Amino acid sequence: MSLSTVNGIVVRYANYRDNDRILDILTGEMGLVTAAARGCRRQKSPLLAAGELFVFGEFVLYGAKDRYSVNACDVRETFYPLREDVERFAAGAYMLSLVQAGATAGEKSEAQLSLLYHALSFTAYAEVNPADMAICFAMRYLSLLGFRPALTSCAVCGRDVRGEKSLRFSAPAGGAVCGACDARGPSVSALSLEAVRRMLLLEDGDIKKVCLPERVRAELRPAVNEYAEHVLERRFKAMDAL
Ligand SMILES: [Zn+2]
Repeated sequence: MSLSTVNGIVVRYANYRDNDRILDILTGEMGLVTAAARGCRRQKSPLLAAGELFVFGEFVLYGAKDRYSVNACDVRETFYPLREDVERFAAGAYMLSLVQAGATAGEKSEAQLSLLYHALSFTAYAEVNPADMAICFAMRYLSLLGFRPALTSCAVCGRDVRGEKSLRFSAPAGGAVCGACDARGPSVSALSLEAVRRMLLLEDGDIKKVCLPERVRAELRPAVNEYAEHVLERRFKAMDAL
């Protein structure tokens, strides 16, 4: 048993006993960690703030593989405005649910943590459309996990689809599919595919610039969620609220 100091964001919690919580924390150093925060629901607990969703901090963990407890936490950011707005909260919760499904234990996950940190920051504090941040986060996150979708050529036949009118976004095929190939999935415009391509080129610190036209947002919301559900083999509820 040993102490580890890690940077992380709380992506889920479950209450147990009277005053305790089990936290799932996405850490840069150790990937997704499950840790008990004992006493964190007591009003005077030093872990009171650390046991909440979205909290970013430096966690001191005690334990070993699969059995950690939080010894201390230096809370750096709570992203509080997410709690004051239904849409911002839904976007943030959607991001957390993707991470919960996609992150793995024991793997360095600095890039995932950086993306989540920036996406939550802009959703909480910047003049952004929360749905745009959720869409952008999902595509970038899945790409980080190795599921970058086909965007400029057909995922089935490989033909260049830029400028093509009749396109679908097929999760099982792995992205854009041309009109000549048979694939199920929502219709998407070339403009929406181009928007995704550009989202993937940005630095994390620049994703606040994403501002989708209404039509593109309406196309990408179901397409992106279907893709996320297919890749991560999970149903995601929070996107419905956006
Ligand atoms: Zn094709």
